[in-house]
Amino acid sequence: MKMNKQILIATNNMGKREEYQSMLAPLGFEIVCPKDLNIALDVDENGETYRENSYLKAKAFSKLVHLPVIADDSGFEVEALSGFPGLHSARFAKEYGNDYERAGAALNEKLGDNPNRRAKFRCCICFLKEENAEPLYFEGEFPGIFLKGSHGTAGFGYDPFFHSEELDLDMGICPEEKKNAVSHRGKALRKLLAYLGENRPAAE
Ligand code: IMP
Repeated sequence: MKMNKQILIATNNMGKREEYQSMLAPLGFEIVCPKDLNIALDVDENGETYRENSYLKAKAFSKLVHLPVIADDSGFEVEALSGFPGLHSARFAKEYGNDYERAGAALNEKLGDNPNRRAKFRCCICFLKEENAEPLYFEGEFPGIFLKGSHGTAGFGYDPFFHSEELDLDMGICPEEKKNAVSHRGKALRKLLAYLGENRPAAE
């Protein structure tokens, strides 16, 4: 019989949801978001690391649903700004009304004419099989170059300001599958997939 195992992804960000959906569906998992279950929960992400924040989110949702939970925390780090905005990436964008065009321009202003434009995305995924289970962590990094201006509208968040040398492509014009193959979340998620693949629930 067809396995149809639900997993809650602790995000209502549709960009992220699509990335998870496209990678987890082939393994027979059905993704649900808090919105699908009418859960409105704003978790205070006050941890000091991506790992801590991913756990805080996973734990909070795990208390409310009887499903395995995946929560991630990610950020954009500009090397010459000592990794800023990093853990504060979402908060930084919020200061600009979640207008990433403005947030990217503001980051560029902070960087000024510093020739070091190296940057990276980082992601930590926390998987909690049930509320009191031991949390499992899967991490990934996506190095590249912070662009002086945005290019394209593909992806989400800081993507239009990011160039991947590995793909030789600006993320604002990058198809989703290509991004998934090299991105921080893609890398972390493939580690999680390998784990889930080996620890799959038996088909009913
Ligand atoms: P969070 O993990 O949902 O807290 O997001 C952290 C911040 O990093 C948000 O501002 C996101 O838009 C940004 N971010 C995370 N992953 C990506 C990505 O793949 N592309 C662009 N921005 C991202």
